[in-house]
Amino acid sequence: MANAFDVVVIGGGPGGYVAAIRAAQLGLKTACVDDWKNAKGKPSLGGTCVNVGCIPSKALLESSENYERAAHKFAAHGIRIDNVSIDVAAMLARKNKIVDTLTAGVASLFKKNKVTLFPGLGRFVSGGDRYRIEVRSGEQTETLEAAHVIVATGSVPRPLPGVAIDNEFITDNVGALQFPEVPKRLAVIGAGVIGLEMGSVWRRLGSEVTLLEALPGFLMAADNDVAKEAQKIFFREAGFKLITGIKIAEVAKTGNEVRIKYSVQGKEQSQGQEQVQAQELVVDKLIVAVGRAPNTDGLGADAVGLQIDARGFVEVDAECRANLPNVYAIGDVVRGPMLAHKASEEGVMVAELIAGQKPHVNLDTIPWVIYTSPEIAWVGKTEQELKAQDTQYRAGRFPFLANGRAKALGETVGFVKILADAKSDRILGMHIIGPFASEMIAEAVVAMEFSASSEDIARIVHAHPSLSEVMHEAALAVDARALHI
Ligand code: NAD
Repeated sequence: MANAFDVVVIGGGPGGYVAAIRAAQLGLKTACVDDWKNAKGKPSLGGTCVNVGCIPSKALLESSENYERAAHKFAAHGIRIDNVSIDVAAMLARKNKIVDTLTAGVASLFKKNKVTLFPGLGRFVSGGDRYRIEVRSGEQTETLEAAHVIVATGSVPRPLPGVAIDNEFITDNVGALQFPEVPKRLAVIGAGVIGLEMGSVWRRLGSEVTLLEALPGFLMAADNDVAKEAQKIFFREAGFKLITGIKIAEVAKTGNEVRIKYSVQGKEQSQGQEQVQAQELVVDKLIVAVGRAPNTDGLGADAVGLQIDARGFVEVDAECRANLPNVYAIGDVVRGPMLAHKASEEGVMVAELIAGQKPHVNLDTIPWVIYTSPEIAWVGKTEQELKAQDTQYRAGRFPFLANGRAKALGETVGFVKILADAKSDRILGMHIIGPFASEMIAEAVVAMEFSASSEDIARIVHAHPSLSEVMHEAALAVDARALHI
């Protein structure tokens, strides 16, 4: 059969395209099925990450940060610019160009490594010794035969019941990346990663942003100290507001406005009962960012008996093996954090497993990054997790305020916090809120992968003056050895 492959990967995002390239590099005849199309209707590899996620959001974060610097921060350097303005169309065009370049880059890597792309939706039609995968593109169908299948179908925005996304007034992550002008009033339902990043972009450009969060606290997955510091820094600015403990009652678009009716759990107790206050917020645009759900619709799981759990994730073991022989699943469609770099690592692992190697992915050392200003990044356990599991630990913390490079940058808020085992001194978690936290966290990941102790970090020479000295000082502080505290 002409369309017979050693490996067929379904999905061309950061999990799927990396898996396909690695499999091909290891000598396996590989195809990738992907349905993403750009505005011109052409295949656009890279999935959510490259097309409407990590990459375009970072482009807009950089543009909006530059605008904010020019408008508000350059004066402190003696640089005077009058009448700073933003050309939103130019900003969006720059973002689109970055996306186009990167998707074209993935396509050329497919060519170079001899991965065959089948544009369209892939679904299992039958199993047995070899799997048959149907690829549907419009009216056309094609059938592939595969010895191994890697499911890398990613995730989709989790819908909010009763709220219809039009990606113009009421948007998910897609519409939030392409408002044609700066909305005067913007609401975001969900103060998670997307809410904070996209809220930051439009707030910096002048929107009044209100984040509506269902949970009673802020950034509850992060270390409590980091979340507290972030809340203090982010919402001290006028124009950025957080309301926690809300419940959405109704969302309606009327004319050019969106009306959001919600209730808030009141703090005051009335006859032993918490008061619920009904509120209304009227905005020009609304972003809904309440998490993402695994994407297995139309995959044909039933046709072959692929096991999907109650929440819609493909069930896999530690090596991403599904319940069927030679079928794997990776990335957002399986357990673990929904992060591009986790998906890619699983993609490499699975390709190498198929090729007979013995790789592994350590889910305990996956870094988290939130690209706000200041940035937030962490790896390993939070202090509240260590307390909950009764682990004896010591903590060391050091502020950016005392660091020369941070002062020169004019970015002095935040800190580095290191948590180490009380007996062995092995690092259990590192938490950063501050400038370039996204870059600094790499040292923490390397340290934890090599089972480093806090003393190891304290004895490594860090360049002066650099932000990494804050990591060094935090490590010294674990053992009260710090010079400056
Ligand atoms: P998220 O899980 O980060 O945040 C969703 C937030 O919405 C949570 O705080 C949750 O409590 C809240 N929420 C849920 N239901 C709600 C409701 N009915 N009303 C109000 N609030 C509600 O999810 P996200 O921000 O949508 O991002 C989706 C995924 O994309 C995440 O898994 C994230 O890891 C990934 N992502 C990562 C990055 C990054 O790594 N920098 C950036 C963007 C997105």
